[in-house]
Amino acid sequence: MTADSRPHPTPPDGRPADGTASSDASGAERWEGILVVVEQHDGEPRPVSWQLLGQARRMAARLPGCPVMALVMGHQVRHVAQQAIAYGADVVLLADHPALGVYRTQPYSDVTLHVIRTHRPEIVLIGATYTGRDLAGAIATRVPTGLTADCTMLDVEPPPSRLLQASRPAFSEKLMATILCKRHRPQMATARPGVFEALEPDPSRPGEIRELAVTLDESRVAARVVRIERQTRTVRLDEARVIVAGGRGLGGPHGFRLLGELAEALGGVVGASRPAVEAGWIGHEHQIGQTGQTVRPKLYVACGISGAVQHLVGMSGSEVIVAIDKDPQAPILQAADVAIVGDLYEVVPALIQEARAGRG
Ligand code: FAD
Repeated sequence: MTADSRPHPTPPDGRPADGTASSDASGAERWEGILVVVEQHDGEPRPVSWQLLGQARRMAARLPGCPVMALVMGHQVRHVAQQAIAYGADVVLLADHPALGVYRTQPYSDVTLHVIRTHRPEIVLIGATYTGRDLAGAIATRVPTGLTADCTMLDVEPPPSRLLQASRPAFSEKLMATILCKRHRPQMATARPGVFEALEPDPSRPGEIRELAVTLDESRVAARVVRIERQTRTVRLDEARVIVAGGRGLGGPHGFRLLGELAEALGGVVGASRPAVEAGWIGHEHQIGQTGQTVRPKLYVACGISGAVQHLVGMSGSEVIVAIDKDPQAPILQAADVAIVGDLYEVVPALIQEARAGRG
């Protein structure tokens, strides 16, 4: 890296920090390993990072000798690096610096770029969150290789090709496209939260933390963070343990007030099918499914949702599915662990009562 405003992570293994690495895959044997960029805010890692580490481990099992690396950036985040090992990383590259305390595109992309150039991973995975999308886009403009954004499936072809199969909905979500990056390295993808399963964390897993020496001239970073305002009403479907979701069967926005009560009694949040969102009964941030979010809570309660495949694809990874529908033929009842045939306006109030009694 040049001696300018950019952070200067020193490669701990003596490899040249030349920043001139060719991205041509003809030297593909020199690009090795899967790198997962871990996202954290205020020292709190986002679950998508552990989900990506789990998928990286599954893919590495098909590539003999392939290490799984994690990049942790932030300030006072060594505990996140330790967690990354428990979730499947062999090596964690730790960039810990006050200037990385809050996410900003320039220093984060500089560090990531430097790690890509010096450690030459054949695959780079980033969560398709707001932050991850910003970071991946910034890197993709500076590394001459491809980026497949917003993937819902990731796999890898075994040697000799070692190609990342990055799949995502395409053509207005009507088909799944699998995109290969044959000629350049690294192969980069962002993946939606909730689609992959994290490994069970194992604090006794062996792994190595390598600290990158980051120097940064704060005065030359273009963006300053003046104030952070959190939206208190932001719904975190991808991290919820309990989701109570409603569909067209609610018959109007009033139904979501009832579902909100059940969600509150169960310690969960409210989700929705697309027609309910399109009718304006609830915000788009609540939509679950192919064009919404993918979720895998411990408990998913579907109320007045028929179970179209575009909805099922977003929630079938839930641990326990309870479905309430008045039509005994509704497909959601087949997908459910507990199927309740009945009017949701009779069943849900009874569930609220039970849940409140259970809590009290
Ligand atoms: P419906 O299919 O109309 O089902 C309503 C259900 O409520 C029925 O089963 C009915 O019996 C039941 N019901 C009615 N009244 C009551 C009552 N009082 N008590 C109990 N049950 C009752 N959909 C999504 O959800 N998410 C997506 O991301 C998504 N993406 C899509 C992408 C594409 C490209 C396309 C083509 C479609 C997509 N869809 C998506 C739409 C999807 O195909 C279905 O149309 C939609 O999921 C149906 O929503 P629903 O189950 O709420 O409504």
